[in-house]
Amino acid sequence: MTARILVVDDIPANVKLLEARLLAEYFDVLTAENGYECLDICSKVSVDVILLDIMMPGMDGFEVCEKLKSNPKTAHIPVVMVTALDQPADRVRGLRAGADDFLTKPVNDMQLMARVKSLVRLKMLSDELKLRAETARSIGLEDHLARAAQAEEVASILLVDGRANSQERIARALRPIADITAMNDPQAAIFEAAEGHFDLIIVNSNFDDYDALRLCSQLRSLERSRFIPVLLVVDQGGESMVVRALELGVNDYILRPVDPNELLVRCLTQLKRKRYNDRLRDSVQQTIELAVTDGLTGLNNRRYLDKHLKLLFDRAIARGRPLSICITDIDRFKSVNDTYGHDAGDEVLKEFAARIRSTVRGADLACRFGGEEFVVIMPDTLPDTAAAIAERLRHVVESQPFQLRQNGTALTITASLGFSSTIGGAESAEQLLKQADRALYEAKHGGRNRVVAAAA
Ligand code: GH3
Ligand code: MG
Ligand code: MG
Repeated sequence: MTARILVVDDIPANVKLLEARLLAEYFDVLTAENGYECLDICSKVSVDVILLDIMMPGMDGFEVCEKLKSNPKTAHIPVVMVTALDQPADRVRGLRAGADDFLTKPVNDMQLMARVKSLVRLKMLSDELKLRAETARSIGLEDHLARAAQAEEVASILLVDGRANSQERIARALRPIADITAMNDPQAAIFEAAEGHFDLIIVNSNFDDYDALRLCSQLRSLERSRFIPVLLVVDQGGESMVVRALELGVNDYILRPVDPNELLVRCLTQLKRKRYNDRLRDSVQQTIELAVTDGLTGLNNRRYLDKHLKLLFDRAIARGRPLSICITDIDRFKSVNDTYGHDAGDEVLKEFAARIRSTVRGADLACRFGGEEFVVIMPDTLPDTAAAIAERLRHVVESQPFQLRQNGTALTITASLGFSSTIGGAESAEQLLKQADRALYEAKHGGRNRVVAAAA
């Protein structure tokens, strides 16, 4: 795992120590001796994880962390606070400042590596998703994500805990921020996790005859719970369990006795991060949608049409149902561009698409085939009905002039249409399309502004 770690500490010996350990694991290490330098580095180069000392002259670690987390450019970099003080109050303050984790000096080697590796993994996942979303230039992505971070909707938490009294204590601490489903049977909890819609799972490792790590590992491998963060509650001195848990993909842990404040903020951190990644995943989904949508008209594009028509064609044949398609092409469209300009042409295309969309039925699919050509696929439609729909389309185009916004010109637009149907004996989707295209050609040839049926 190659990643760049930034170590920030005002005492050179501390920096050297951490740097040496990280270099031994082949991390790329940068160092800063105060908060200003840290912020400066982060603004210039990409950093994957920051190890941040709390007690520093000038700007302390809390303030540096707040600054990093409030800047959209650096907010997603995981921050681990390294402190000599093992005070719960400090931890809570750090978590409120947005810190993702803590290490206490002297830093335990195993913990350091497990923490850093797990955060690097998380960061890489976020980066990957972010990149994919940005590739699509998904508009307003940062806004979208910032909203996700602010959203304070009530979360849903699954608590798996073998003891009634600790269940009650944890549930009480979290009630202000979440709906809690508490269960004491780990096996049943796995089903619950897969069935429900949880934002976080807390596993208390106190089962009499069940290995909590086994539960964590199952939660990580199941499709339905893979992306739900898991927080593990462990005994003081259970470091080796923590290391194994983090290797398994557990997101965070808290030591017993559980401090309610620390638990609360750790949960909030996990919830915030989950929302962020959920939004990124949505954006990737939107990207996919963009790839099959025509940007100008919002209709599906040709790529989508080709795939989908084939599917509908095969289904119609298999079920013995009719399928009809109609191709329409705007008449003398080039002269609209030539006379009124390209933007006016675009306006006409948009309005044309809107008229098609509002004219065809819900089950019909309208696509932009290219330029000023559009295709409507009509499942379960016989040629007579297809003819009537095509005629209706022709009419809605011709009957109302197209109003240009720029200079208020009203344009009379007409279109030619050709349609074909599986009843005509087409053997493939392409052939069906070709028949409709030939009918369209005849409509043009016969004088435009008319509907022609494909020859059987
Ligand atoms: P016909 O009646 O034979 O169909 O004549 P036509 O002028 O409509 O046909 P032709 O294929 O010669 O011209 C189509 C024009 O459509 C040319 C092209 O510049 C224009 N066009 C294609 N895509 C767009 C677009 O996205 N926006 C605009 N404004 N024009 C486009
Ligand atoms: Mg045309
Ligand atoms: Mg054309």
